Amino acid sequence: MEVVLADYLGFCYGVKRAIKIARENASSGGNSCTLGPIIHNPQMVERLKREGVGTVDSLEEMPGGTIIIRSHGVGPEVYAQAKQRGLEVVDATCPHVKKAQLSAKELVDDGYSVVIIGEKRHPEVRSIFEWSDHKAEIIETEEEAEAFPPCAKLGIVCQTTFSGAKFRQIAMQLLEKSRDVRILRTICTATDQRQTAAIDLAEQVDMMLVIGGKNSANTTRLAQLCAEHCLTYHIETAAELRDEWFDKIKKIGITAGASTPDWIIKEVYKKCQNRA
Ligand code: SF4
Repeated sequence: MEVVLADYLGFCYGVKRAIKIARENASSGGNSCTLGPIIHNPQMVERLKREGVGTVDSLEEMPGGTIIIRSHGVGPEVYAQAKQRGLEVVDATCPHVKKAQLSAKELVDDGYSVVIIGEKRHPEVRSIFEWSDHKAEIIETEEEAEAFPPCAKLGIVCQTTFSGAKFRQIAMQLLEKSRDVRILRTICTATDQRQTAAIDLAEQVDMMLVIGGKNSANTTRLAQLCAEHCLTYHIETAAELRDEWFDKIKKIGITAGASTPDWIIKEVYKKCQNRA
């Protein structure tokens, strides 16, 4: 049995950076917590907790100390509230997300009606919305794009992890809505790279293992894409592997979401290789 890793898998630049920042902060001592889980991976969140970085769901839970902003980012109100409460802020917002946030703000300041193409409930999209002074419209589907009213000036930004194909489709529809359209393609290449590499591999193997948090949107998307090409299992850790999955399988592909730590990928890879 052959086991092949996708060309691009696991931690992206923004997640690596956020975890490094959180760890550096933990080693400097004091009470520090991330606002919301630093990434959508329960195993990594647990590990960081042991190293001294906890998680809070709101600033009210912080009596003092340092609040770490995760890679998804937050709106400007959160920075102001943290300052009011006397908290130190360590900003681990991914620079790509920051660019989308500031682009939305600039477009609003320049008098554009702003559309964010993305998932309405995704925390990153919420943060971009807040940077637009709560003025942007979030559009997730072609039907919503169709229903968007014509306007004088239209500015478009995108959730960094949104599907490139779906973004193009929706942006094309929105082009009809105004004579003055500015499109800022704020999609991050990490997502495209992982998705393309996963599909390439899924086409060549009998079974794909997609590793990552069940609460991770980008991992779930990878699993959906792979499932269109071959038998696919979405797992969080090696402990979920089942003997019966490997019957009659000659070639296994492995990929992992942008929030999946290396050590978990290695464990799964090793366990699969031991069966080879
Ligand atoms: S997927 Fe891209 S935008 Fe999102 S955290 Fe990773 S590098 Fe940043």
